[in-house]
Amino acid sequence: MNRREFLSTSMLIVAGLALQRPDRVWAMNEGRSLSFCHTHTGEKLDIAYGYPGGYDSHALARINYLLRDFRTGEEHPIDPKLLDILFDVRRNFGGRGTFAVISGYRSPKTNKQLCARSSGVAKHSLHMVGKAIDVRLIGVRTKKIQQCALGLKRGGVGFYAKSDFVHLDTGRVRHW
Ligand SMILES: [Zn+2]
Repeated sequence: MNRREFLSTSMLIVAGLALQRPDRVWAMNEGRSLSFCHTHTGEKLDIAYGYPGGYDSHALARINYLLRDFRTGEEHPIDPKLLDILFDVRRNFGGRGTFAVISGYRSPKTNKQLCARSSGVAKHSLHMVGKAIDVRLIGVRTKKIQQCALGLKRGGVGFYAKSDFVHLDTGRVRHW
């Protein structure tokens, strides 16, 4: 293989990787930060949680605390991939917005209570394993957030027009 062949082969490989793993190529190769305000606790957090190729464990711990089950006070690790979805959504709308959090982690007890009250709550919700979040992005129409998240194809996207939020998770790619 001469130099030119080597270069064009390398470029094809890089292009192929970019097509296969948009999450890696997009979010993982740079510093990542997020802003939250929690609609139930009033807590705010503006935090750099990721560096190229990894995550800051102290920052993740603070995010886990913010996204705890505010009804019971229980904490659970939040899937960092969920944060990368939020990061990419936010970037699509200028990269400076604040996510208003409606619901992050839900303990089994809380989920059971919500399940009994509403038909829109799943019995085995991904909220119970720290892989789902209900949010809106302040200043951006929720319908636009839904469209953007659907385009990422990185998990589930639920649109709740009446309550004005989107559910995002790192489960199978699906929508409702
Ligand atoms: Zn949800």
